[in-house]
Amino acid sequence: MLDPGSVLPPPAGMLAELTHRCPLACPYCSNPLALDPKASELDTATWARVMQEAAALGVLHVHLSGGEPAARLDLPEITRAAHEAGLYTNLITSGIGVTSQKLDTLKDAGLDHIQISMQDVDEASADRIAGYQGAFKRKRALAEEVVKRGFPLTINAVIHRANIENIAGLVEMALAMHASRVEIAHAQYYGWALKNRAALMPSREQVDHAVAEVERLRATHRGQIVIDAIVPDYYARFPKPCMGGWGRRSLNVTPAGRVLPCHAAEVIPSLEFWSVRDHSLEDIWRNSPAFNAFRGEEWMQEPCRSCARRDQDFGGCRCQAFLLTGNARAADPVCHLSPDHGLLADFVEEREPEYAYRA
Ligand code: SF4
Ligand code: SF4
Repeated sequence: MLDPGSVLPPPAGMLAELTHRCPLACPYCSNPLALDPKASELDTATWARVMQEAAALGVLHVHLSGGEPAARLDLPEITRAAHEAGLYTNLITSGIGVTSQKLDTLKDAGLDHIQISMQDVDEASADRIAGYQGAFKRKRALAEEVVKRGFPLTINAVIHRANIENIAGLVEMALAMHASRVEIAHAQYYGWALKNRAALMPSREQVDHAVAEVERLRATHRGQIVIDAIVPDYYARFPKPCMGGWGRRSLNVTPAGRVLPCHAAEVIPSLEFWSVRDHSLEDIWRNSPAFNAFRGEEWMQEPCRSCARRDQDFGGCRCQAFLLTGNARAADPVCHLSPDHGLLADFVEEREPEYAYRA
């Protein structure tokens, strides 16, 4: 629960996972290993209600995501509902399944922004990582159509062992695609990425070089493109302030309607998630057990409980703490003050040559 006297601010952002279906099979996908089946997905009218409730709660922007959101034929209707509710809409797409005609329909529905994922600079490598022959060409072609229609474009590149040497090339490619922003996002080890950790994990030397490279590229391309970086926390001394704090800034609605404080939260089996089928979004945000489980500081144990950084990083990621230690209240083992920090040394040494692709 929140600490006594503190006020619960509204969430600024909502991740709407419209479907887990996706033509690609990225080995770092953050979707859960047990995907929501199509038959369990929320219908159009329920998503439209969720958009209204999100805006009333104070949400400013919604990310229409998946899986591949274009796998839903009612994507334009859902987009329109979000737009009419007053939300800023961002489509997060693999690029496969979004035709020129669909782009026009989405523009007409009020879509504000598009983010396309790129797996690598080299076509063969990119297609191998995506698990889809021809994906690279189709993504590039779609990006052209996106820019032609005046949408702001972000390129997202998830970084891991197979492409970490190509960060400069990925930024150059985003510039050539006329993107206004590029996200250099080191893989976060949840879902399929956790399963494939030993095949994805770069070395410390590679990570150090990559971090310096991003700084160099930022200086070189200042004013031309915004370069956002999500750091690889397995090599850090302190954890990231995950999601800006549990249940503080954002929420995530799964294809079947469960509402999560973050996309990985279902890995913690003790949590009780409420569904938009049974509760309003405001009720869930304020009162659901899962959202209140790690708000405030009452739940913390040592060393976080008495640590001066606890209001900056909130003890790190709850899901990572659970996945690596079996205790969701523990300090994130990424923290060098955690008694479990030694666990990471073994993980970063793991090496597997092949990925397991999601079906
Ligand atoms: S990460 Fe890849 S497989 Fe997962 S939803 Fe995105 S495009 Fe699909
Ligand atoms: S001990 Fe806990 S609060 Fe302190 S830096 Fe480490 S994870 Fe953060």
